Amino acid sequence: MARRPFVGLLFRCCNVYARAYLNAKGTAYAATCPRCSERVRIAVSPKGTKGRFFSAG
Ligand SMILES: [Zn+2]
Repeated sequence: MARRPFVGLLFRCCNVYARAYLNAKGTAYAATCPRCSERVRIAVSPKGTKGRFFSAG
């Protein structure tokens, strides 16, 4: 099983960090807030993402 790429993601809703894993199609990173279960999705640009850390929520 291949390793799934992930990025660090800050959930602004609860001010907590979690990992967002690349989806099967490689089009977006998806994560769920560990505290309030809010779902977050980060689209991956065709050029790729520059950063390794994002914030959402
Ligand atoms: Zn939250």
